[in-house]
Amino acid sequence: MDLTNFLKILDWIDSYRQNLPTLDVNPSIVPGAVLQQLPTAAPEKGETFDQIFKDFESMIVPNMTHWQHPDFYAYFPASNSLPSLEAELLTAALGAQCMLWVTSPAAEELEIRMMEWLRSILDLPPHLTGCIQDTASSATLCAILSARELQSDFGINENGFQGQRFRVYTSTQAHSSVEKAVKISGIGAANLVKIAVDENYALIPVALESAIKADLDAGFSPLIVIGTIGTTSTTAVDPIEAIGKIANKYKLWFHVDAAYAGTALILPECRWMSAGLEHADSFVFNPHKWMFTHFDCSAYFVKDPLILRQTFGIQAAYLNTAVDENVANFRDWGIALGRRFRALKLWFVMRSFGVEGIRDRIRAHIFLGKWFENQIEGAPDFELMAPVFLNLVCFRFVPNGMDDVASINKLNKDLLEELNRTGKIFLTPTDLNGQYVIRLVPGNEQSNMNSLQAAWERIRQMARTLDKLRLNA
Ligand code: PLP
Repeated sequence: MDLTNFLKILDWIDSYRQNLPTLDVNPSIVPGAVLQQLPTAAPEKGETFDQIFKDFESMIVPNMTHWQHPDFYAYFPASNSLPSLEAELLTAALGAQCMLWVTSPAAEELEIRMMEWLRSILDLPPHLTGCIQDTASSATLCAILSARELQSDFGINENGFQGQRFRVYTSTQAHSSVEKAVKISGIGAANLVKIAVDENYALIPVALESAIKADLDAGFSPLIVIGTIGTTSTTAVDPIEAIGKIANKYKLWFHVDAAYAGTALILPECRWMSAGLEHADSFVFNPHKWMFTHFDCSAYFVKDPLILRQTFGIQAAYLNTAVDENVANFRDWGIALGRRFRALKLWFVMRSFGVEGIRDRIRAHIFLGKWFENQIEGAPDFELMAPVFLNLVCFRFVPNGMDDVASINKLNKDLLEELNRTGKIFLTPTDLNGQYVIRLVPGNEQSNMNSLQAAWERIRQMARTLDKLRLNA
């Protein structure tokens, strides 16, 4: 076998990772720019690796957003790492489809063990068990569908809705994937009840209970409560214990979405966030966000896997095997039949870094967040817009004397857009009570203090420039 091309790719990966800081974090192109360069039809005859690779380097790489760049502070990170990449290469080489135990025995058994390792390092309740899903969105959909089936005695899968009027409860700050799942599950977005939050953007339990009672009085069937550990806008933490007790009292499914912040539970000092998790029926977190295991890898834990299997189990003669009674067959634990071998990258990451190595990295990111929070607090013309629980800092620029919300919003929108246009930093916004807020999250493997200091300098300079332009206009 001629490995020249492989070696070239490995060299490229090595220099890409080293040179990342010298690249722009996002490209300055308009929609359609790449499409225009691509031939409209597949080639009739095969091309050489060199031709393909040349185009990869000239057309694809310069037009990518570099998520592993140290100046990527947008959304939440989707952090990778060398061990994760090593496993990916092997996963691709094995080319296995891991839907049944017989289709990849080692993959199923490694996945079982990896879920146990994750449960242990995050100190999750011992009765939780689960499997790897592609995304937290799928996991939340699984939770809603499982709750729907449990409450309808597995009847909706068979007969469709029979007039049930289910209600789903979550906070106003919950991720959009909750609303999507409510739509897909046939419950309908109109039956998603968004509960008010407190000054820390955490769900107010009293408001939750009032909403459930009002719905019962109105003849609705309360179904599921979805709490969040680490909301997308601000990493707010819902009071899991109080919500769990309410969910249990009214016999509702309790799902906890810790897609991003779940990784921080590896730190004993962050475990306050998961207090009361023993009340949860399901819990999801994404190693593909903050645990250095590249996309996709979402760990979905449930109290009772039988409900999952009853909801998603399907029979087909061509899928039956002699060992079905004795194995997990993860095809029945989620939506898709086919499954990637995702456990291998988790195994490589956890073994290479060790739990201690992961803890150190997460603590370093939290330290970066704290440092940036201090800069914002110390700058008279910047405002902190939400408490900083981990490494996400929400802030805005408010020049002295400016007090109307529309002008402040416009100035901050301009600030973010101008900063992103430089290609030297990538930030994303959110909305908090009608206020335009800039989010900054240093959370990938390359995040570091030098880059963050330079980013802060860049943000201040751009803010001053825009303010001068505004005053001179
Ligand atoms: N839940 C929360 C709190 C999130 O922040 C996100 C994404 O950022 C999601 C769910 C969706 O994650 P995924 O892309 O894995 O579906």
